Amino acid sequence: MKVQSDWTLREIKNLYEMPLVKLIARAMGVHAEHHEVGEVQVCHLISIKTGGCLEDCKYCAQSSHYKTSVKPQPMMRYEETLSRAKEAVARGATRVCLGAAWTEVRENKQFEDTLRMVKGIAELGVEVCCTLGFINASQAGRLKEAGLYAYNHNLDTSEAFYKTIITTRSYQDRLKTLDVVEEAGLSVCCGGILGMGESIEDRLKLIHTLSNRDPHPESVPINKLSRIEGTPLEDQPLLPFWEMVRIIAIARITMPKTMVRLSAGRIELSPSEQALCFLAGANSIFSGEKLLTVANTPVDRDCELFEQLGLKKRRAFANESLA
Ligand code: SF4
Repeated sequence: MKVQSDWTLREIKNLYEMPLVKLIARAMGVHAEHHEVGEVQVCHLISIKTGGCLEDCKYCAQSSHYKTSVKPQPMMRYEETLSRAKEAVARGATRVCLGAAWTEVRENKQFEDTLRMVKGIAELGVEVCCTLGFINASQAGRLKEAGLYAYNHNLDTSEAFYKTIITTRSYQDRLKTLDVVEEAGLSVCCGGILGMGESIEDRLKLIHTLSNRDPHPESVPINKLSRIEGTPLEDQPLLPFWEMVRIIAIARITMPKTMVRLSAGRIELSPSEQALCFLAGANSIFSGEKLLTVANTPVDRDCELFEQLGLKKRRAFANESLA
């Protein structure tokens, strides 16, 4: 099947309107054509600078605009970051993501420390991704030189709904950063959060924006809202599970080569629900007790899940996967 970057919103809506079993069957076909069936990449996310963020993302425990249990912490030390990364790699992670609660990267000691961390982790032979807020071309270039593989910058939702969730920055600025990342030769990781009160149309528009990028993002994390006490979204109704599966299947069909990552909110999914997500095209998980500040599925439960479903961890590292 040809990889297309000109999906119309109508085509994406048609996918959404398919009977679920047929949608999943189609996604399975696309998945089998572009990926090793049953192979799942394990990623590990390390929060190198937690809390005190000036942005007002309504879902986030780290925003200084809300009273949550997360308190600002100093930047994590190089040694601790490396030791956490090594543990994750020993447990089978082939991608390590470093997250900092910054609006943008500033050229200061913290950025120099981050570059050092990227270099140290890249030397372990794994893909390194960073999510540090806005970056300019020279910072993206320096991150690339240090060994960075991917840069994460999520769009979260549709452009129209974005202003309801975040007022301190614009969707267009996010898109510009994605262009900067791409121009620096880094791979793009960009996804969304489902269940923030957005409409179905908003979800489909997010997929439309992502699948119309050429090339498609190499990685699309699909998050289910973690309802965090103290944030404006703490009382959001639960996202129906079927909605999540549909969006995963549509992401797989529209962006066949992309790694579709089951991200935040996975802890609320049963093993059978996760199995269905893998059938629908998800082929990556985040492993570790925490995802930034929220609880994640315990590692031993992931091991059981892999065994029960006969999944195997993707061993290919960055260079091999690009071959
Ligand atoms: S999601 Fe990121 S940018 Fe938004 S408040 Fe949280 S840490 Fe800051």
